Parts: sequence; structure tokens; C-alpha cells
Amino acid sequence: MSKADPAFSPATLGFDPQQLAQRYREEREKRLRDDAEAQFVELDHDSPFANKYLENDPYSELIEREPLRDERDVIIIGGGWVGMMTAARLIQAGVTDVRIVESGADFGGTWYWNRYPGAQCDIESYSYLPLLEETGYMPKLRYSYAPEIYEHAQRIGRHFNLYEDAVFQTWVTELRWDAEDARWTVLTNRGDKMKARYVCLGTGPANRPRLPGIPGVEDFQGHSFHTCRWDYGYTGGGPDGNLDKLADKTVAIIGTGATAVQCVPALGASAKQLYVFQRTPSSVDLRNNSETDADWVAGLQPGWQKERQKRFGDALLGGEIAPEFEDEGWTRMARNLRALMAEAGDIDAEQLGNLPQLADFKTMEQIRSRVDGTIKDPAVADKLKAFYNQFCKRPTFNDDYLDTFNRPNVELVDVSEAKGVDRITDRGIVANGREYEVDCIIYASGFEITSSYRRRIGIPIYGEDGASIYDQWHDGMRTMHGLMAQRFPNLFLCGGLFVFQLGANYCYGVDVQAEHVAYTVSELLKRRVRVAQVTAEGEQRWVDDQLSEASSGVQLILGGSPESCTPGYYNQEGTHERYRDVRLESYGKGLGAYRKLLRDWREAGELEGLGLTLEPT
Ligand code: NDP
Repeated sequence: MSKADPAFSPATLGFDPQQLAQRYREEREKRLRDDAEAQFVELDHDSPFANKYLENDPYSELIEREPLRDERDVIIIGGGWVGMMTAARLIQAGVTDVRIVESGADFGGTWYWNRYPGAQCDIESYSYLPLLEETGYMPKLRYSYAPEIYEHAQRIGRHFNLYEDAVFQTWVTELRWDAEDARWTVLTNRGDKMKARYVCLGTGPANRPRLPGIPGVEDFQGHSFHTCRWDYGYTGGGPDGNLDKLADKTVAIIGTGATAVQCVPALGASAKQLYVFQRTPSSVDLRNNSETDADWVAGLQPGWQKERQKRFGDALLGGEIAPEFEDEGWTRMARNLRALMAEAGDIDAEQLGNLPQLADFKTMEQIRSRVDGTIKDPAVADKLKAFYNQFCKRPTFNDDYLDTFNRPNVELVDVSEAKGVDRITDRGIVANGREYEVDCIIYASGFEITSSYRRRIGIPIYGEDGASIYDQWHDGMRTMHGLMAQRFPNLFLCGGLFVFQLGANYCYGVDVQAEHVAYTVSELLKRRVRVAQVTAEGEQRWVDDQLSEASSGVQLILGGSPESCTPGYYNQEGTHERYRDVRLESYGKGLGAYRKLLRDWREAGELEGLGLTLEPT
């Protein structure tokens, strides 16, 4: 292929790559804010907003209980997928003295809290829902809705007997290593002072909601809530929609990310008037949900889920696309790339290197054309088109979202020029010089997924000599395997901090770590180890591996071409100069290589990289 080759000319491609590149740059520039992540209001427990947007549980009454002062072999912080899978794998490995401490009133984590109408997993449920074979469950739909996922979390809790020793409705307020005792002390907001030999941090990536730092948030006199604390008492209806109490209400929703895309259809169908405040449009591809095929289920062989998860991962990461994923939205870009490569024939290395970008343009053109095909008003259609590379933000998939903007009671308010909503008053929202009077504001403003470690974990953690983990990681996270850090003995940092490395199908990556932590803890207990501490060499070896050339692919995943990606949580809100090295949260060689590395480490049986102090005999 040459540059003049008609196969890749704008005429045959149907788009002009240079013009698109220019448009992407402009759209990004328009949204960049100097205050980057600081634009968001942190909801820590001392915040004046904490009670309303964080600690408030609209789904359960608080149950009084006495403070706990006991000791466990393992305490796991968090009862979402990370905590539950780590507990399940520990129990399978013979470590049974395990307590989960959870802020919700039941298991489920993000699926406990996120009950907004339309909530659904965006990854196919056969790959996403953990431990299907172990619990003997098969999801009803290819893409499950939140109530089924939450029920599955409870099923896992029952199956592995996790309820017996779990503590719910409890926020951990401090973790402190006591060197004399070789125990962690776990303090909570319920007055607990528990002890543990080992602590697994499983707080997950989406446990801390955040509010946009819009002036006047506190002035609003109407009703408001964050999507992860959905107030059905106010809206009426349930996860299926039918929000009947909104029939006479004017509602505003701020944010158009993956959450808003799922709940806007129900809001549009129910509210008297809905204003959707959009700063950056999401890419919204087809969902095409379907019922689970009974014949397919009947033919499954033991071990099918892990096999499927692996094939799904391969398909997402540029490997072979198995036939069952040929119609999957997540593989659209990979399929486009494959088609371009087939068309390209014999090309040089530089031209080959350009093909992924061409495939991305093509993918986003297809997704943008869905907007034109759905939205009746061309001016609205133009605002709903996403002009950035597909994986600059979480791609979304929904068959009802776009059409909602054809409703006469729904108005899209584009706030991209002003880089967000201007301010909030006692009566509503000011944007583009107009005050929108509303009865209710719903914040679909996301979570502390990639912000500073202190913000996203939200728990003070003190290791040897009272060292704070957040001071230690000021410039970036330093660990061995993303799981253990020097000066923080007997502590496992499961799941949450490693969100990028674990890939789009988060639960699969979480399980890779859970099995590893289960092995390590069971070995340490068997070998009568009192203190397991990562050595300086062990940590450095891992960090070097992360930063090696072979791992550099991660830059792409992290929106690491900050010059090209629109701001968002993937790229620290587009920060020009990164305030910490995000590469240290990742393993650019991919999940397959990570899984193999951990498996080899376990098979060697030497606990390499750990300094061990044994219990006195
Ligand atoms: P996001 O962080 O993705 O979106 C937040 C939204 O709020 C963005 O649209 C953002 O605009 C907007 N916003 C922030 N500040 C302002 C402001 N001042 N004025 C106007 N708009 C503003 O949060 P979500 O809850 O949507 O999603 C978070 C993550 O949760 C997803 O990326 C995904 O990983 C996960 N998720 C997964 C689902 C699943 O199906 N498994 C479903 C839902 C969520 P901008 O983009 O311009 O910053």
C-alpha cells in the first residue's frame, strides 16, 4: 500500500483521517481544565457532603451492634467482587478464618450500591459474573441487569459461607500495623478495634463517588442524589424503570458517562421534563441483548467459564476473535483492524503502525453514524457524537439511550464550551447563561477511580514505623506484583488499584489475583510465617519489569497519549504533567503474561521477593 493507494484514500475510507485527527485535537482542547482532578469534590467522611452522598444508604436501615474486639487470620476490607473472590479462593485454599468488612448492608459492592434504573453489566455475563461453575448458576441474559448481578453476589456469599463472619454497614476508618504483635489493627466507624494477621484491601475501583466541584452545590433547595445512592423513595419505580413519582417533576442529570447512558432512558420515559447536562458525549454502540440459549448451556463442559474468559480477553486484546465474539461490540475495533490489514496487503512498518488509528477512526465513524441514524434533530445529533478514540473513555452499549433525545420532554444541554456546568443555585442549574429550574438534580459524575490513592481508597493506612502508604506512593505506586508493598507487611492490595492491568473484564483479572493471594496466605500460614515483607530487590524487580520497553503498551490503555485523548478518569483528566507515574499501576504485557508470571512464582514455591520472619517455636 502506498499513501496514494485508493484503498485508503478518504474517498474509499469514507472519512478523512487528517480532518478527524484535527477535530479530535480541538474537542480535547475545548475540554481541558487546569484544575484537572481537583475540579471534583472529594467525599471523604469529614466532608459536609459525606452523609448525603457517601454514607447514606437508601436501601437498608442501620442495624445497631456491639463493637468488635476480636482477631481473625484474615480481614478483607470490602464485600464486592474483589473481597468475595479473594475470600472464596482463600476458603478453597483452606484458610477459613476470614472476615469481610463491608460498608453496604450486604455483599455486592458496586452492585449493592448501584441500583439505578437500567443498570447492567457492559461485559457479557458469562465472562463477567464470577464463579458461575462453582455456584451452579447461569445468567438469564447475555448482559445481566443489576438485580440479577446483586443476587449472584448473595449466592456466592451463601455458597462460600461468607455471611457467617461478615460485618456489614461498617466503614473502615484506619488500618495500622502493630510490629510488636505482628498484627494489623482495623478501626471502624462502628467503634470496632479488630486485629488480623493478614489484611486484604478489596475496596475496588468504584467505591468512592465524587461530585463535580460546581459552585453552589450546597445551595440547591430541591432534591438531589448521586446515581450510586438512587432514591426510589423520591423517583418511584425500580430498577426496571417506571419512575412514576417523576411524572410531575423536572429533573436534571449531570454527566453522560457509562452510568448516565444506562439510566437516562428510564428518566426520559418517566419525568415531566428531563435536562441532560453533557460535557463530553459517550460513544454509544449497539447492545443487542439476548436470552441465554438453553442448547448452548446443555453442551457446556466443566471449565467452560475460565476458557470463555480467556477467549474473551484474547479477543479484546488483539488476539484471535472466537466466533462467539464476532458480534460483540467490544471487538468492533479489533474486527475493523483485521479487515484493514487484510485489505492492506504488503505494507511497510510505518504504514502498518498507522492501521490501528485508521481502525479506530473507522470504528468511531460507525458509532457516530448510529447517532445520525437515530436522532431526528441534526443539531442534537451533532452534539451526541463522540470525537475521540474509542478507548479514551469507557465505551458504552445501549439501544435506548440515543432515542431518548427524540422525546419532546428531553433536552440535551451541551456544556462543553464552558468546560462544565457553570453553577448551581437554590432553584436549579446555570449553564450557557441560562438558569434551568429543576425539582431534582441527579449526579452521574462518577467515582474516584484513578485519582490519588488517598482519595480513592479513603482509608488511612499506616505500616512500619507509622509510615503512611500515601506518602510512600507520592510519585506512583510501588509494589511487588501490584499486591504487596515494602513497609506494609502482611497486607495484600487486591484488585482495586490495579484496574487497568486487570482489563475490561475486571472480574477475570480480580480472580487471577484472588487465587494468588489465597495461595500466598495459605503458604505463609502453613510455614508459620509471622511477618512477610517485600524486599527492596523484589519490589525493584517488579517495578523494572513494569517500566520495561516490553510493557510500554500500557500507555495506550491509560489514555497515555495524553496529547490525543479527551480528558477523563482514564488520563487523570488530561493532566499535561502527570503528578504520579500511572505506569506503576499497570502491567503493559497484559493479563495473560501477568497470570503466567504469578503462576510461575507459585510453582517455584520459594515465595521469591518476600523477606520472612517465622513465629517463635
Ligand atoms: P464517569 O466518570 O464515566 O462520568 C462522569 C460524567 O460526569 C462525565 O460525563 C463527565 O463529563 C461528567 N461531569 C463531571 N463534571 C462535570 C461538570 N462539572 N459539568 C458537567 N458534567 C460533568 O462516571 P460513570 O458513573 O458514568 O462511570 C464510571 C465508570 O463506572 C465507568 O467508566 C465504568 O468503568 C463503570 N461503569 C460500568 C458499568 C457497567 O456496565 N459495567 C455501568 C456504569 C459504570 P466529562 O466526560 O466531560 O468529564
